[in-house]
Amino acid sequence: MRDEISNKSDRLGLEEYRHSTAHVLADAVKQLFPGTKLGIGPAIKNGFYYDFDQESRFSDSDFVAIEKRMREIIAKDLPFERSVVSREEARRIFEAQGESYKLELLSKVPDDEEVVLYRHGDFVDLCRGPHVESTGRLGVFKLTSVAGAYWLGDEHNPMLQRIYGAAFTDERELEEHLRLVEEAKKRDHRILGRQLDLFSIDEEAGAGLVYWHPNGAMLKHIIEDFWLKEHLKRGYELLSTPHIAKSSLWHASGHYSYYKENMYILPVGNEEYVLKPMNCPMHLQVYRSRVRSYRELPIRYAELGTVYRRERSGTLHGMFRVRGFTQDDAHIFCTPEQVEAEVGSVVDLALHMLKVFGFEQLGIDLSLMDRGKRQDYIGDPEVWDRSEAILRKVLQAKSLDFREMLGEAAFYGPKIDFQLVDIYGHKQQGATIQLDFNLPKRLDLDYIGSDGSEQHVVLIHRTILGALERFVAALIESCGGAFPLWLSPKQIAVLPITDTQHEFASKVRDDLLDAGFRVLLDDRNEKLGFKIREHTKLPYLLIIGKREQAEGSVSVRRRFEGQIGAMKLDEFISMAREEAQKRVIFTEGDRR
Ligand SMILES: [Zn+2]
Ligand SMILES: [Zn+2]
Repeated sequence: MRDEISNKSDRLGLEEYRHSTAHVLADAVKQLFPGTKLGIGPAIKNGFYYDFDQESRFSDSDFVAIEKRMREIIAKDLPFERSVVSREEARRIFEAQGESYKLELLSKVPDDEEVVLYRHGDFVDLCRGPHVESTGRLGVFKLTSVAGAYWLGDEHNPMLQRIYGAAFTDERELEEHLRLVEEAKKRDHRILGRQLDLFSIDEEAGAGLVYWHPNGAMLKHIIEDFWLKEHLKRGYELLSTPHIAKSSLWHASGHYSYYKENMYILPVGNEEYVLKPMNCPMHLQVYRSRVRSYRELPIRYAELGTVYRRERSGTLHGMFRVRGFTQDDAHIFCTPEQVEAEVGSVVDLALHMLKVFGFEQLGIDLSLMDRGKRQDYIGDPEVWDRSEAILRKVLQAKSLDFREMLGEAAFYGPKIDFQLVDIYGHKQQGATIQLDFNLPKRLDLDYIGSDGSEQHVVLIHRTILGALERFVAALIESCGGAFPLWLSPKQIAVLPITDTQHEFASKVRDDLLDAGFRVLLDDRNEKLGFKIREHTKLPYLLIIGKREQAEGSVSVRRRFEGQIGAMKLDEFISMAREEAQKRVIFTEGDRR
């Protein structure tokens, strides 16, 4: 991003600029909407925000008025004045203005810290600063959006309205930023999801619960099908386990004590069931169903398991953050000697699969335990040493760039995380490989060793795609809804120019279906140009006119490239088949 200025003083200057603009926003809002209470207003990446407690919802026309008032305040070139006041003085000022949130913040200022106010004109804010000299220094900004935000991020607190703005010291940088935001909006998976009829979420039927429409369900099925084949090739076995289990299972696994807040708990008669928030206990049940020998290990159980988690409504976001989702989950049970090879092959699988979907840019984190600071971890220090060393060694051996995150490990084991990085630098959680020293001990997950003694198995939890919902959302945004041929829910549209070609067009459609393609025939009585525009996201359009019918050929249009010429249907089929089989992500036209 353009604002990532390496020079620290420049960056500080930009932060002051953005934060000072937030003061001007708050001033303008209070002038236009008397009685509005202020929350906080920090600088953020690309701009700033300010939180307001205000009964009516801010609208687009309010934005116009607020921006206008902000420009007036800026034109007055009011100096930002710093003053240190007593607590009583500050309390008197904010009480007089009914600023209850500021009073709350004031009460949290530590005793040994002075209370600092900043004023410009009649506006006063509790703030440590720093700010630019005067409002006249500001002016390159734009209000961009409004969203709900809980006071102090706590859902038990009132929901405030957060107005976001972009601000830069350079007009061209602001324009470039706004252009990127517009571009990102066009790729927003919620918008494309509706346009391409992929999925919907109905708040009335349940927030965070995804309805996959035919196109989306097809896309999900293609991904799952690919996933299964890749796993079977690598010695995984498929499981299918129940969606609910009695509380006792979750008490035994420990979820009931530390994950209860996120679980849907169902009373049934005198019993209590839990809708599974994770697949682990189910997979462990299968492992524990009989005595295991070292000869059977490693065992790799995989399941596309649908789980449900009570996420707070404020955190839900399209398919990125949902309450019901399918995890491409697997659990590997192995001996300590097998850990390195197993982790290595999971890393290979993750790199391979994510690359096939076009995610070549990945962030990799290795989360380690800060054992100097934390004492509540499970497992022997030597086991931790060895395991952390193994994970590090695996990543180094593959020459992967990764960050070591000391103190980020779970209490039960170290892990490796892969993040998908999109063209805007946004990160989404991808694969996770987690070692677990807790559950094998807690649940006696044993095997009979070569010497006949009982040993605890080593447990590895892992997902490659993570939640399919989140993965598909990232996929939609990464390709802007123009899916590669092998993934496209509909791959080819057959477009006859007039009625006379319908019969031949139907035959072309049938031949393509026979060849295994996902095809639609658009024989509506519409102009050809209209039909082409309607199917602009499809990889191939086959146009059939009088000449094609007479010659038994098809005229081929490739997405983003346009006409690539007329060819015999067989010729087209073998070309397209090769592209799909190779799982080509970008054709030349996509890279334009
Ligand atoms: Zn300030
Ligand atoms: Zn697990």
